[in-house]
Amino acid sequence: MEELFARNRAWAQKRIEADPDFFARLSRQQAPRYFWLGCSDSRVPATEILGLDPGSVFVHRNIANLAQHTDLNFLAVLQFAVEYLKVEHIIVTGHYGCGGVRAALGTRQLGLVDYWLRSLRDIHERYQNLLEDAPSPEAREDLLVELNVETQVMNVARTPIVQNAWARGQSLTVHGWIYGVQDGILRDLGYKVSRTEEIGEPHQFWPLR
Ligand code: ZN
Repeated sequence: MEELFARNRAWAQKRIEADPDFFARLSRQQAPRYFWLGCSDSRVPATEILGLDPGSVFVHRNIANLAQHTDLNFLAVLQFAVEYLKVEHIIVTGHYGCGGVRAALGTRQLGLVDYWLRSLRDIHERYQNLLEDAPSPEAREDLLVELNVETQVMNVARTPIVQNAWARGQSLTVHGWIYGVQDGILRDLGYKVSRTEEIGEPHQFWPLR
């Protein structure tokens, strides 16, 4: 553990040498433009892989980057990001080689995490035909990673939090990206939503008055 504190002191020192005002500036306020919903996987640290500094990205991470409508933790973070920090971009980032996605494709019981991954199994079921056509188990897993990101982008967009922001005229785009743990590269799925009309009727809410 001592090594971690030593590493931290060295890091803070390097920061100050490069930019003496760095921590003083950050301590006054945070003003991130991006909200990142990503996987808890240790290989996918948001700020670091974006090459950005602390203070740039508001982050929420959980197993398999899920935006569940019953997850108060996620919803509180989302509301704070949208209504108080006024982030301009919400980036849902999945990653290839995701253990959560792999678990959802299997049949082995893992315990509490099975409840967490239930909605991922639902996505598996919904796209069963498409997934069965995948040429290999690896391709099937990659495809479910992508379908999951698309679904979570829609889940975020379907929250009253995001729809009320759009109704207020706030500029806010929800993006779907995938990170390759094998090459360190982020890929844009080209799947993004920035207006209520792009979601479709049954999921549209009336704005709060
Ligand atoms: Zn993962």
